[in-house]
Amino acid sequence: MRIGALEAGGTKMVCAIGNENGEILKREVFPTTTPDETMPLMIHFFQKEEIEALGIGCFGPIDPRKGSKTYGYITSTPKLKWQNYNIVGEFEKALGCPVGFDTDVNAAALGEAAYGITRGLANSIYMTVGTGIGVGVYSEGRLLHGMMHPEAGHILLKRHPADTYEGWCPFHKDCLEGLAAGPALEGRWGAKGDTLTDRAEVWELESYYIAQACVNYCMLLSPERIVLGGGVLKQPALLPLIREKFTLLLADYIRTEEVRDAAHYIVPASLNDNQGVMGCIRLALLAL
Ligand code: ADP
Ligand code: ZN
Repeated sequence: MRIGALEAGGTKMVCAIGNENGEILKREVFPTTTPDETMPLMIHFFQKEEIEALGIGCFGPIDPRKGSKTYGYITSTPKLKWQNYNIVGEFEKALGCPVGFDTDVNAAALGEAAYGITRGLANSIYMTVGTGIGVGVYSEGRLLHGMMHPEAGHILLKRHPADTYEGWCPFHKDCLEGLAAGPALEGRWGAKGDTLTDRAEVWELESYYIAQACVNYCMLLSPERIVLGGGVLKQPALLPLIREKFTLLLADYIRTEEVRDAAHYIVPASLNDNQGVMGCIRLALLAL
């Protein structure tokens, strides 16, 4: 079986071919410029491969609600050329095969749930901390959408008393993303995250915010496991600090087997940065 997968990002489009076991057989990357330029390259790639279905995990916000007038559209993205763009419709027209569609982080959550570290669990969360913060929610055995899809990178949380950085989110300033995504590290400390390894105070503060987010997701969605991915999590000091603070903030209120050992509850992504693409393969299979 040949399955198409598209991890559609704001800077690059990862196009891949996979099979029903989630194995990636081939991959090509195109820069995300304009639909006029980028779409024909991707369509050509998938047409050559004679795929049976396509799965798209897309930067957003998007409209993933079947039956909605704008189902399959990228909606209010800051990438102006892609605003209100019917990406699903264009691929359906060009390829004539079923197309599965969800957010990039929901795809990553699905990839881990189908093939990775949350396989077999009906409830899990995937959080990426990179240029932005995104959260995919897998709940009762399926991806959660609600009225559109969760935007749990923009939650509001308690600010650290010693933190004077105003935050960079263009909408909320000091939401989680505004305080803790990669650009916030750079804005607050004046240097890129990967150069701040030796500054203990940086990771103290960063883990304080991410741990709060994990507590909130735990309380609200009751996941059996939380997976953390994204560039900022490449920082080795971070994960142990997040787990430590998570346990402290939870304050023994939740006492399930799952949260007892934070090292088991909060885990790094497990699929070598392929969780997004593998989730897209799964989206395609579900669309078939
Ligand atoms: P994107 O979110 O754009 O898909 P990434 O998940 O790779 O991409 O995240 C990029 C962000 O992660 C940048 O802000 C970068 O500075 C930051 N980053 C990358 N590596 C590290 C690291 N080792 N430590 C801390 N921050 C990092
Ligand atoms: Zn925000």
